Amino acid sequence: MKYVIIGGGVAAVEAAIAIRKSSSDAEIVICSAEKSYPYRRPFLSKGLLKGFDGDGFLQKSAEFYQRENITVRLGCRVETIVPERKEIVLADGSRLNYDKLLLAVGARSCCLPIPGCDLPNVMTLRELPDAEKIRKTIAAGVKHAMVIGGGVLGLELAEVLLEAGCGKVSVVESAPGLLLRNMDAVSSAQLQKHLESIPGLELQLGVKLERITPDLADLIIMSVGAVPEKSLAERCGISCNRGIKTDAFLRTDAADIYAAGDCAEIENCITGIYSTASSMGKAAGANMCGAETPFVPEPPSMRFMGFGLKLFSCGTFSGEMEEFQENGNTKRLFYENGKLAGAVLFGDMRESMKLFNAIMGK
Ligand SMILES: Cc1cc2nc3c(=O)[nH]c(=O)nc-3n(C[C@H](O)[C@H](O)[C@H](O)COP(=O)(O)OP(=O)(O)OC[C@H]3O[C@@H](n4cnc5c(N)ncnc54)[C@H](O)[C@@H]3O)c2cc1C
Repeated sequence: MKYVIIGGGVAAVEAAIAIRKSSSDAEIVICSAEKSYPYRRPFLSKGLLKGFDGDGFLQKSAEFYQRENITVRLGCRVETIVPERKEIVLADGSRLNYDKLLLAVGARSCCLPIPGCDLPNVMTLRELPDAEKIRKTIAAGVKHAMVIGGGVLGLELAEVLLEAGCGKVSVVESAPGLLLRNMDAVSSAQLQKHLESIPGLELQLGVKLERITPDLADLIIMSVGAVPEKSLAERCGISCNRGIKTDAFLRTDAADIYAAGDCAEIENCITGIYSTASSMGKAAGANMCGAETPFVPEPPSMRFMGFGLKLFSCGTFSGEMEEFQENGNTKRLFYENGKLAGAVLFGDMRESMKLFNAIMGK
């Protein structure tokens, strides 16, 4: 049996490992458009200061793939899938056949469609070359940096930029508060108050930028979310909505083609979370080998560690709220019809897994 995986992120790697676990003699090929062996994408922001060659950056060493007899083709962009012939066509025109195919093509950074977004000092961060470009710019000296988007990644970038020596970092957010999709308004206000005390950090909330001009800042990083990469699937007639549509077993509507990770939409849900992409990859790999295990999406959760804060949130934040304050730590619990539906922790994170499982109904 020949398994071909398109993509070089965590979903692709976990799927390959799951396939090898189920079958010692399967032929497994990963085709990744990136030039680097699959790495832990969240390290891109963290590595802007330290670089990208440290321990733990790569998901697995080159030797690992050799030992497990997994072929990794780097710099290998897939242009087309021909489902009727069970073939993929690569950018160089060559073809590769498959018995089962996995789309693990991830997501693309969004860019605000406003004048000036193509200026040379405006950047996004999704892949290693983006990170290297930002790192080089920072090293050359940046007095004023701006992050457009005050989500978790935007705040993480703001901290890295300050640590890197940028004298002033502005975070521009169109919503009236920070992380309002990840927590309730009271918790968001608590976060905002803390961030307003950080020297060099400027928050511009409720600001909808209409254009970017060269004098706005020396470096501008757009961190306004990511969209599932569905263009390849769409071109090949595979059903897509916001992402590539799958059933509970991560099968698309094309025979023997599966999808997992940030590109996949299961039950109208797209997550964009590393741990979910990893478990989806694992589940897809097992199902491609005949396991028939449904994938159960987890409730959205968020962790943020930065600016001296530790923050966790999970679930939904409407309904009745109960608040606990102890030793500078805050815990807020949210109930719907008497059932725990959401939680926010500031400071002490020890209960995060317990609360996550309770919200999951485990
Ligand atoms: C800077 C940054 C920080 C993040 N931090 C966190 C965090 O702290 N916590 C968290 O939960 N999540 C975080 N995320 C999100 C997390 O990294 C993603 O959810 C996760 O990487 C998704 O994995 P994936 O395998 O689905 O896709 P991706 O990691 O996006 O990988 C997709 C791969 O497919 C390749 N590809 C695409 N099209 C083709 C094609 N046609 N042919 C061949 N290859 C193709 C791409 O080049 C890429 O290698 C972060 C993301 C970024 C960018």
